[in-house]
This record gives sequence, structure tokens and C-alpha cells, in this order.
Amino acid sequence: YHTCYCLSGLSVCQRSWSEDEDSPPLPRAVLAWEPCRCSEIRVKSRRSRSKEDQVLIKVVAAGLNPVDFKRMLGVFPDSDSPLPSVPGYDVGGVVLKVGSQVRSLKVGDEVYGNINEKGLDHPKTSGTLAEYTVAEENLLALKPRNLGFVEAASIPLAIGTAYQGLEKTGLSSGQSILVLGGAGGVGTMVIQLAKHVFGASKVVATSSSAKLELLKSLGADLAIDYTKDNFEDLPEKFDVIYDTVGQSERAVKAIKEGGKVVTIEPVGELAEPAFRFILTSSGAMLEKLNPFLENGEVKPVIDPRGTFSFSQAPEAFSYLETGRVTGKIVIHPI
Ligand code: NDP
Repeated sequence: YHTCYCLSGLSVCQRSWSEDEDSPPLPRAVLAWEPCRCSEIRVKSRRSRSKEDQVLIKVVAAGLNPVDFKRMLGVFPDSDSPLPSVPGYDVGGVVLKVGSQVRSLKVGDEVYGNINEKGLDHPKTSGTLAEYTVAEENLLALKPRNLGFVEAASIPLAIGTAYQGLEKTGLSSGQSILVLGGAGGVGTMVIQLAKHVFGASKVVATSSSAKLELLKSLGADLAIDYTKDNFEDLPEKFDVIYDTVGQSERAVKAIKEGGKVVTIEPVGELAEPAFRFILTSSGAMLEKLNPFLENGEVKPVIDPRGTFSFSQAPEAFSYLETGRVTGKIVIHPI
């Protein structure tokens, strides 16, 4: 039997599995604008299981990102996967099975990762918002030893975006950076990586009033309340600006000569010399950052509303859509 309900286009399907059914069981969450079609998902998930470089993961927690609600709204019609599709990019879980070409992971490993290498290019139809998911070995890393699954699941897409964007700007030790949107999933990671991994000498970040202390606790030397001050009116200019909110036109006015502006959220025409990029995900990047997570210099930031259970996924999506989330939200238990 199965039961489904829909809210804002997110259809969550709950279905029981008989003992003699093949694993993995069907995902329980289905992103759809039409009635849940479990049997079709089943066929698709069977086909996608045949790749030998993949591992089957028992999902413990699934982190949400704005891309999840944007897909629900149909923002990427040309590059999205066909519906129905299970949402979710980020996962923290345990390896249950490995393909014959999997080299470094083994059954029982506790892993985390973003299961879509190119986030906007036909993401997997069997996403992480399910009891089981499948991912290529090279997209996963061992979970940092000091973190739980919820914390780990909150990290991959955001930290990858932060790291890659900073690399592309060439931010180097002793330089200054302004982070626009310092309290979001990506911004909280940009502040920490700029300070502790890239060695920025000065980190400035923007948020609304209530989040200024958080920015400082993450390593910002100065936190600007965007409801009161305009960052472009500051007397100082920056070597790098990381724009997570779509303010590149204003940002280019606040860089030093030769400075860089990277944006992940383009709004309108990109102002020169700002550039945009889209994350390419990898497990190697997570492995490189694991020591900073394990020594506590870089910390996951979970929104005060914390985690949402699987059946609360529609509420989690609605909250994410407000654009007011602090750090990350995670679906757990699944
Ligand atoms: P979040 O939903 O986590 O960002 C929410 C945060 O944004 C809130 O804490 C809010 O703080 C802050 N915010 C909103 N408006 C402003 C503002 N005007 N000035 C300063 N802060 C503001 O989003 P993410 O950080 O996860 O992602 C940011 C954007 O980047 C999204 O649109 C996402 O889709 C995109 N993205 C693109 C990627 C790529 O590869 N190109 C990869 C990852 C994300 P407050 O409440 O204080 O306003």
C-alpha cells in the first residue's frame, strides 16, 4: 500500500516494503506535480543501480539547499531531470553495498557528500531525501570523526561552493574579503574558509541585525548590518568579494583595483568584473577540508530550528524558500 500527500508541489510518498523485494527499497520522497508514481521510480532506480563505481548508502540525514526548492518551483526547465524525481543533494549515511569498481570505500563506512557532481546538469532522480540513495565513490568522503550525521549532511554542497569560489578568486594569505550573505549556508562556510584555510587578513560579512554576532563567532572581523548600512559606503575596499545574494552590481564598487567579485546567485546582468560559477562537486575536496572540520576550525552551522523529520520535509522546504535560514537545515530522521 502507499499513501501520498502534497504540499506546494512536494509530494511525499510513504510506502511499506515486503521482505522479498529487491533492495534498495523505493525512495519515500517524490518531488512531483502529479500523483506519486512509485512503480516508475522503482524502474528508474533499478536502472541507475548498474554503475559499478557507485555505492548504495543508507541515508541517516539529508541536508537541504536552495537548489532543492528551486527545482520544486521548476526554475531549471532545460537542465533538470524528468519528473518524478526524489529531491536532495547532500547526504550523511552508511555504505551498504559497493560496486565492483569501488576502490576506497567499503561496506560499513560512514560517509558524506553531495551526490550530484554538476548540480544543475540533470541531477540524479534518486536524490538523498529517501531511506537509500546511490552515489559515485568519487563524490563521497569519510565523515569527519568528530561530527554526527546531521552535521555532516549539512556540509557538502555549501562547503564545496565556498571553497571553489574562493579558489577561483585566487584569495591568498593577507588579503581582505567581503562576504555578502554571511549567515547563509554558503556564507557561513565562506567566512570560515577565508579565515582558517585561505588565511585572509580581514573578513567582513553582511547580515541582518540578529545574525551579526554569529558572523563574528565564525571569524568575521567586522559584521555589517545590511538593514542599516550600505557596504559600498565603507571607506575601505576589498581584494575579494564573495556574493551569495545577488548584489554583484553593488559589489564591483567596493573592490580594490584588480579585485575579484565572485557570485553564485546572479540577478540580472553581471557587472564587470564579477563572474559567476556553478559548483562541481567532489569527494576529494571534502577530504582536503576534513582536517579543518576535525580540528574544529571550520564548524557546521545548523539553523536554530535545527532538524526536520522526514514527514516535516514540506515545512522544511517552505522555510528554506523564505531565504531566512541561518546556516543549514537537515532532514533527520529519515
Ligand atoms: P541560504 O538560503 O542559506 O541563504 C539564506 C541567508 O541569506 C539568510 O541567513 C539571510 O540572512 C541571507 N540573506 C538574504 N538576503 C540577504 C541580503 N540582502 N544581505 C545579506 N544576507 C542576506 O542560501 P545559500 O547560502 O545556501 O545559497 C545562496 C544562493 O546561492 C542561493 O540562491 C543558492 O541557490 C545559490 N547557490 C549557487 C550555487 C552555485 O553553484 N552557483 C551553489 C550553492 C548555492 P538574513 O536573514 O540576515 O537576511
